[in-house]
Amino acid sequence: MGKSFDIGLERLTGIGVPGIGETQEGGVKPPLHDAMADLRVGHYSEATERAQPGMAVPQGETFYLETFGCQMNDHDSEKVAGVLLARGYRQVEQPEAAKVILYNTCSIREKAAQKVFSRLGELRPVEESERKWIEERELGLKRADREIGVPGEEDSEQRAGRVKTRRLQSAGKIIGVLGCVAQQEGEGIFERAPWVSLVCGSASYRKLPQLIAELEAGNRRVTGLDTDTDETFETEITRRDNPFRAYLTIIEGCDKACSYCVVPFTRGPERSRASASILEEVRQLAEEGYSEVQLLGQTVNSYADPSARKMRFSELLAAVAEVRGIRRVRFTTSHPRDFGKDIVEAIETHPTICDHVHLPVQSGSTAVLRAMARTYSREEYLEKIALMKAARRPISITTDMIVGFPGETEKDFEETLNLLDEVQYDSVFAFKYSPRPNTPSLKMPDAIPEEEKSRRLAILMDRQREIQRVRNERLVGETFEVLVDGKSRRESQWSGHTSSNRVVNFTSPEQELLGDYVQVKVTMAMPNSLVGEMVGRT
Ligand code: SAM
Ligand code: SF4
Repeated sequence: MGKSFDIGLERLTGIGVPGIGETQEGGVKPPLHDAMADLRVGHYSEATERAQPGMAVPQGETFYLETFGCQMNDHDSEKVAGVLLARGYRQVEQPEAAKVILYNTCSIREKAAQKVFSRLGELRPVEESERKWIEERELGLKRADREIGVPGEEDSEQRAGRVKTRRLQSAGKIIGVLGCVAQQEGEGIFERAPWVSLVCGSASYRKLPQLIAELEAGNRRVTGLDTDTDETFETEITRRDNPFRAYLTIIEGCDKACSYCVVPFTRGPERSRASASILEEVRQLAEEGYSEVQLLGQTVNSYADPSARKMRFSELLAAVAEVRGIRRVRFTTSHPRDFGKDIVEAIETHPTICDHVHLPVQSGSTAVLRAMARTYSREEYLEKIALMKAARRPISITTDMIVGFPGETEKDFEETLNLLDEVQYDSVFAFKYSPRPNTPSLKMPDAIPEEEKSRRLAILMDRQREIQRVRNERLVGETFEVLVDGKSRRESQWSGHTSSNRVVNFTSPEQELLGDYVQVKVTMAMPNSLVGEMVGRT
């Protein structure tokens, strides 16, 4: 269900490199390489000193934070980590070593949500685990009927899990569920996993320090589940995981109400951050040494400056691009409805704005787009593509697609396939439609069987892979500027990203290149990446 298919560049905002990065639901995570030792902690010590009067800062307490899902979740986790570090917590890499265990969750597709409950099953306290195990054995339940982790018949892996659970429980952990599953399931999580003590949706992250303080003060269960907050989650302390690319959320939530999507329920209404505050953070990032920033939002180009300045998104892009020290500005995800000529003009006039636009289409059929409530037709979408194709600077275009939406006919699917041919995307992230709770499409007739969704996904993947192979072949012989963000274990092998977000693996005899901008000549092309050799520095 909901299998994502990464047939192109890595998941847009990650810095994954084939052979180094690790894929997970919907994406590629930043690779762990030497440069990760160079983690930057924005204003950490300053903020620690000022930390929350009246709230006890626990000495030597530890937290473990695991993130599922998209780059917005990754970045939220960076901010959550910043908040906890400022309260005196220390981050650890194993849940066994942590006092507080947090999962920042994703519920965009069913599989992602299930993963979280299976993680929570691993943390089931031992008495609860024994009780459930005995109960299930008595009831004779089969493994397949289980919702969370504990079996009718225990195998060695599960026994090992219980031993691990015993260790976890004896240490008296605080277990928290954050993000989209938290918002979606709410207090129901306490019923399904009574050992969880904190449930907090992303719209309530500002309350996190207060919620944690309540737990520290002895409260058994706390929740932050408001969705109507008009605030954005700003924190002075963001513990940044990616040493090369700094993420900034400029708009949170979504008002678009696509009929298949949980985001409006889990992330609340759209709230934009004031332009002055965004620009101030970009200046700080540049001072800290970041040269690449990525502006984030579920619909980043629907940005509406809440301050008197009323900057348009394209003006904000230009202003960020002009900050001294910034060499690359990225933005994701753009919604076709709010994508206009002004954004293309900003890209044309500011070389620092990357020549890459991710413009999810979802389907090539106007009938399906209508059923999805996407607010544009195929023709209107193609007009936006034409704007980019007419730009004075080539712009790399990528997209998201859903196959097997209820009622999608063979003809609708054909239209999606020929949209691929017409647009010639540089990368496509394709998903099988996954029915989600509360969404209007859940009740739509003519569901497409799972095998048929898989068949369509495979056909789409093949078609797009061929398009990418041919497109990338044309780049052989060209030279690109690459920001180096990966070093292979193999000698003289490096990797990085072009402005268009293509992954380039290249050779160079240099001793140290991480974080540098270099010129790479392409010598070979694959459907998902380029191979080349360094020919100079920039
Ligand atoms: N806001 C972005 C937009 O409007 O395109 C998309 C954000 S969503 C986190 C990322 C992608 O997940 C979507 O573009 C869509 O392709 C996919 N997606 C969302 N809901 C889905 C569902 N119920 N089943 C399958 N894929 C889904
Ligand atoms: Fe979901 Fe549509 Fe909003 Fe994107 S625009 S987050 S797909 S509701």
